[in-house]
Amino acid sequence: MSLEKSEAIVLRVVPWSETSMVVTLFTRDFGKISAIAKGARRLRSPFESSLDLLAKSQIVFIQKCSDVLDLLTESKLIRRFRSGQVALLPLYCGYYVAELLLGLTEDNQKASELYDVSDRTLTDLDRGLSAPEVILRFEMQALKLLGHLPTFHLCASCGNPVQSERNGPGALLGIAAGGILCGDCVPSQQLVIRIRYPTLEYMIAYSSEEWSGNPLPILAEYRGEVRFVMERFVSNLADRHLRLTDFLEELKR
Ligand SMILES: [Zn+2]
Repeated sequence: MSLEKSEAIVLRVVPWSETSMVVTLFTRDFGKISAIAKGARRLRSPFESSLDLLAKSQIVFIQKCSDVLDLLTESKLIRRFRSGQVALLPLYCGYYVAELLLGLTEDNQKASELYDVSDRTLTDLDRGLSAPEVILRFEMQALKLLGHLPTFHLCASCGNPVQSERNGPGALLGIAAGGILCGDCVPSQQLVIRIRYPTLEYMIAYSSEEWSGNPLPILAEYRGEVRFVMERFVSNLADRHLRLTDFLEELKR
């Protein structure tokens, strides 16, 4: 047992007893944790609004041994996620960020860079930046940091270089294989989709870009294809369909 402090984003809140909740938090210093927040369901909760979904808070918690829930002792709000007051799309995008982090990260594995990417994504949604770009950047950066970045220049199956021509028929992407495929390997692969070259270019750009200024805009005619590819990549990794993707249809327009 030890007393720990960290910045954290609230990913999930579940009632635990009449007065308590179990909160799943993505912390900057300890990765994803689940902790009991005693009294959080009381009218005058000691945590106030710091445990609202997607809020960013400074927390103090007692870390228990592996199979016991941690105990949250303090939580102070740093930033509320405000997008829901503006429109539904950025709100659903925020929920999607939480669902992806819940589905693709392990408990108690420090992931500070992914925390920073997630924090920035929520901030950018709150700032009203264009959601298709904010979400693609989040997905590609998350895949990169989690070690699941698709291959773009080498065949994901045999490792040979693959040339994709700008004016050619596009690229063959193996969802299960985890990247681009050469013609020889395609017949032996499952979940292969053909994408147009600019879609591939967006994926490459967003996985490498530091994105300090305005992001490279995704042209409307490619948005549907970008979502199609990313939904399949992410659900294949999470081993299930992510519920929130059904609410992100607007990203395709
Ligand atoms: Zn190959």
